Amino acid sequence: MADADFSAPPAFEGDTEAEKLISSLRELRAFTDIPPISSRLPISYRRMPGPLRVRLARLIGRWQGRREHHWADFPGWPLDLSTDILSDWLSPRTSPFRDGPTPVVLTHDLDSAEGTRNLLARFLDLEEASGARSTNFVVPAAWPLDHGALEEVKRRGHELAVHGFDHSNRTAFSRPEERRDRLAAAGELIERYAMVGYRAPSLLRTRALLKDLSNIYLYDSSIPTSGGPFPTANNGCATARPFLIEGIAELPLTMPRDGTLRFLGLDGDAILALWRACADQISEAGGVVVLLTHCEETFSGGDQMLDVYKRFLEYITSNSRFRWSSPMEIISKAGLLTKPANSQRLSAEDAAAKLQ
Ligand SMILES: [Zn+2]
Repeated sequence: MADADFSAPPAFEGDTEAEKLISSLRELRAFTDIPPISSRLPISYRRMPGPLRVRLARLIGRWQGRREHHWADFPGWPLDLSTDILSDWLSPRTSPFRDGPTPVVLTHDLDSAEGTRNLLARFLDLEEASGARSTNFVVPAAWPLDHGALEEVKRRGHELAVHGFDHSNRTAFSRPEERRDRLAAAGELIERYAMVGYRAPSLLRTRALLKDLSNIYLYDSSIPTSGGPFPTANNGCATARPFLIEGIAELPLTMPRDGTLRFLGLDGDAILALWRACADQISEAGGVVVLLTHCEETFSGGDQMLDVYKRFLEYITSNSRFRWSSPMEIISKAGLLTKPANSQRLSAEDAAAKLQ
């Protein structure tokens, strides 16, 4: 049998067929439709004592580390850019991020009161010294929020955004009415801090959730490029470029997350080397670098991981192929700012003005 000829892309009737093919690969594993055990427990898994939760997760992680062929079938681990490769092959349009330095976005999920305290005590100075500003995802209804702290984060030019409802991993799988109620609970925070972005706790996301988010937010950042073993095996969109899905702009989490890497047993030097290699590869592929770190001591807030984070920031600032950016800047540059779907949602102009 003759080998297939891949030297030229197949001819399509206009762009639509090619677009359909690209989005079907991108969406093949984009959602986590089956709830993990943590979202099916009769009580919130967060009631389990923190240290026990971390120990349990590390144990599972070490076991998972030996089973990579089971959880990284597609997208591959630690970085799979199949959708971008397909897109460049089929579509004549090049990524808007190919020209000039690659945008880099730093994000934190503030998963506890400790996380917020550490953000202020340990992370913001480092970021500001590098000329960066981070985007911080806040849980609206799990513990009393320290508004003095949040106001300071905002005043120093960092972005605040929404991280679910109470972090019990249920919103994505709730009945429609309950899901909308859980989402509506963030209304006051959204107004107070001009929040325009959302990230799902534990990155648990369904089509129905994203559709609801499109009525409230200007972007979502819950879909990893290569999800690895968490929250479910074989999850991710295999692209490092933003895209439109269910009416909302998606800023994929393009870099391997701190939690996953710790759970898989990587040490600090290995994590830094992996982050640098992934950032370089994303830059070469015309993508955007989006990093998630958690500020809790058991994640990136401890001395060793904080040093890794600092060295990664130094790598980005010392390398002219990168520049600091923000979710909104990337979404605008990609032409993905959509019209407000209803009054709950800030208009693009208002949001841009508020985020100045
Ligand atoms: Zn979280």
